Amino acid sequence: MSTRGSTYDVVVVGGGHNGLTAATYLAKAGLSVLVLERLDHVGGAAVSTEAFPGLGARLSRYSYLVSLLPESIARDLDLGIELRSRAVASYSPTLRDGRSTGLFVEHVEGPATRRSFRELTGSDDEYAAWTAFYADVAKMATRVAPSLTEPLVTAREMAAGVDPEIWSALVDRPLGEVVEARFADDLVRGVVATDALIGTFAGMHDRSLVQNRCFLYHLIGNGTGEWRVPVRGMGAVTDALARAAVEAGAEIVTGAGVSAIDADGDGAEVRWHDGHREHSVRAGHVLSNVAPWVLRILLGEEPEPATKPAGSQLKINFLLSRLPRLRSGVDPRTAFAGTFHVAEEYGALSTAYDEAAGGQIPGTPPGELYCHSLTDPSILGGLADFGAHTLTYFGLHMPEALFAVDQDARKLEAVRRAIAAIDVHLVEPLLSCVMTGPDGRLCVEAKIPQDIEADLAMPGGHIFHGDLAWPWASNREALRTPAQQWGVATDIDSVLLCGSGARRGGAVSGLGGHNAAHAVLSLR
Ligand SMILES: Cc1cc2nc3c(=O)[nH]c(=O)nc-3n(C[C@H](O)[C@H](O)[C@H](O)COP(=O)(O)OP(=O)(O)OC[C@H]3O[C@@H](n4cnc5c(N)ncnc54)[C@H](O)[C@@H]3O)c2cc1C
Repeated sequence: MSTRGSTYDVVVVGGGHNGLTAATYLAKAGLSVLVLERLDHVGGAAVSTEAFPGLGARLSRYSYLVSLLPESIARDLDLGIELRSRAVASYSPTLRDGRSTGLFVEHVEGPATRRSFRELTGSDDEYAAWTAFYADVAKMATRVAPSLTEPLVTAREMAAGVDPEIWSALVDRPLGEVVEARFADDLVRGVVATDALIGTFAGMHDRSLVQNRCFLYHLIGNGTGEWRVPVRGMGAVTDALARAAVEAGAEIVTGAGVSAIDADGDGAEVRWHDGHREHSVRAGHVLSNVAPWVLRILLGEEPEPATKPAGSQLKINFLLSRLPRLRSGVDPRTAFAGTFHVAEEYGALSTAYDEAAGGQIPGTPPGELYCHSLTDPSILGGLADFGAHTLTYFGLHMPEALFAVDQDARKLEAVRRAIAAIDVHLVEPLLSCVMTGPDGRLCVEAKIPQDIEADLAMPGGHIFHGDLAWPWASNREALRTPAQQWGVATDIDSVLLCGSGARRGGAVSGLGGHNAAHAVLSLR
């Protein structure tokens, strides 16, 4: 066993974007920081990759849009990243009386959005309901967003700044109730509901309210809830963070799998392996960028299968030679410029949930498509000149348990059904637009939760490291220590959470890292 360097003020376990955020803040403040990352590169789920070798396009392989990264973090760390707005918010194709039509929502809603609601629903009522509902959500968002980079407030304190009816609808009662009370149209209801179900396996009436929490996180980013395109792909966000961390003086070691954390009164010893031999290093504080469930194992506890998170998504990356044409006649450059909702009518979402909960792959899987290259062609490399495009599919209600047996066959079937659900709305089958790589294979890359766990060590393939928590403290929560106040505490004083599993840490936000760093700094 060797000891690399000497003792560090802080060792960060995991070089995901949150670990890098924490490292940068701490190194900028003058602390000695070592980041240990098991893979041969940093970034975790926030990376760009040449998923189809030989073609030059660098896709955001896992996460793809940014909303929750506060502008203050990008400014503090001088990241210089560009997040670009999409011209279109969403297009949701559907069949009405056997006719192909859809709902079109602009990024800045104008006459075209109003017209689309009217044509779909026959009146202006649903659009009026839509604008009123999202105005209410925006009031909540502007209250919650600035609190994310501050110590936690209690639920009571947070609620004090919000209209009680809005609070009750979004926080106290299953989200399905407000969606059904305020909207009548099945497609409009579904478009609203999807934000509650991204990476979250729940029904809209689930008593746990995990769907409400997921919804809130999807609508509060920077007070607007806008999801923007990271120019040059998600890897550009990680590259900027890694650069900032190194410039600030942090040391990053890749190919360093941490196998144990032995905490004692003055800090902790971290043991890690580089593939050849074991190393050990001491730290005053250890920040865990790995999921809380994984951290418990590193701390010496037996893995507990009953509490292991479980992911619930099917991710597919496509590289297309051209965008497919739509049955509804809408220009594909418009339809795919925002979020393209597939089989996400409210009734369809509910049916798919029931099927998946019953152990069946949904017959018509709900999911959403997004074309990065329409907003930012730079990720295509040389392919941009040939009309090529990237397309990302994020499928809902695909829990890990569906793939527990016959994994390969079931994954193939899930992909087949997802593509069939998309094809319902296309003039030409999606696969006829997919490029073929130099190896003769179609440029289609699919990842079920088991693949996400294998690639990224996210337990159960859960994209947030575990179910999302409310972004505030409960009224009776202990908030004595800085770690508790910042929502990054574990049972051990010298070990803090700094990743997606920290309170408020889910998604590409840097919040887990920012908040853990601030907890450490407030101890000095
Ligand atoms: C398919 C998919 C799509 C998503 N889409 C979006 C999206 O569009 N927008 C969005 O905001 N969020 C999205 N998310 C969620 C988001 O990507 C994550 O919540 C976020 O990236 C988590 O960042 P993190 O730094 O906390 O953790 P991670 O990215 O999980 O990083 C943790 C790091 O720790 C390393 N590690 C693990 N175990 C060890 C060990 N023993 N020793 C050393 N290192 C270790 C891992 O290799 C990894 O690099 C998506 C996630 C997935 C999987």
